[in-house]
Amino acid sequence: AIVVTGATGQLGRLVIDELLARVPATEVAAVVRDKEKGAPLAERGVELRVADYSRPETLDGAFRQGETVLLISGSEIGRRVAQHTAVIDAAKAAGVGRLVYTGVLGGPAADFRLADEHKVTEQAILDSGLPYTFLRNGWYTENYTAQIPVQLEHGVAGSTDGGRIGSAARADYAAAAAVVLTGEGHENRAYELSGDEAWTLAEYAAELSRLSGREVAHHELPGEAYLQVLTGAGVPQPVAEILVDVDVSGIRRGLLQGGSGDLARLIGRPTTPLAESVAAALASAG
Ligand code: NDP
Repeated sequence: AIVVTGATGQLGRLVIDELLARVPATEVAAVVRDKEKGAPLAERGVELRVADYSRPETLDGAFRQGETVLLISGSEIGRRVAQHTAVIDAAKAAGVGRLVYTGVLGGPAADFRLADEHKVTEQAILDSGLPYTFLRNGWYTENYTAQIPVQLEHGVAGSTDGGRIGSAARADYAAAAAVVLTGEGHENRAYELSGDEAWTLAEYAAELSRLSGREVAHHELPGEAYLQVLTGAGVPQPVAEILVDVDVSGIRRGLLQGGSGDLARLIGRPTTPLAESVAAALASAG
């Protein structure tokens, strides 16, 4: 089977959709920590395996010999090295055929804080000796479009100093994952995945203004001021610090700009344009 962890998450659900468009449901299994949340997947014929990255004993039996496994990186920043290591250990013990991992653009060269756990995870996979594929995902466009209601009120804020962001839609990354999971020739390769067009926050604000018909301001702030904005909006301090660091140490320095073309090549079509993602988010925000 092809096994997807984090299958009830936003990316994972899209990966399952893409897999079911390519292979029978009987060939797909989902590792979920919440069986109820996984019920819609089970209804589609996907086998559910219940396991929590934080409880290694639950991962015993999550994988079988020869399977192709997608480890979708966890969402609990700071706890992920232990969590991912537990998944890798379980995959190794089961003797899976290939371990595919969603890391971050740049891989070992990414030196902003958010990349730390991904780098350690990639190294642990290399050390495991398992055949692997690294999907080094750039930024999701949805990281920005999910904030549209707030942006329409308060403008677009960041500390990017005009740095470019080569984002793509989650659906684009999900399609790439499905291609790599079902296709041949991806063993022991790393893909640098990003959108075809990289944009600045000013361009994003202009696009949002054009498509919403409202004047959306763009506030380029020093790191400290952006941190205040994020914590003031209720983002927990440690997460806010990581996000500011992404802007200051990552985006400003061009590390999330991308440009390899790997994503469009894998999915066999252009990545979703920024305008299309903004328009879709505006439509669903009403
Ligand atoms: P989500 O938060 O929607 O999904 C995360 C998934 O991981 C969920 O299915 C969640 O389970 C699962 N998960 C988290 N912790 C555990 C655990 N301890 N045990 C088992 N499963 C766990 O994130 P997305 O789908 O949007 O993104 C996927 C991943 O990509 C994120 O987890 C993060 O690592 C990374 N990411 C990348 C971004 C980018 O721009 N490239 C932006 C944000 C995150 P459950 O459904 O039960 O909550």
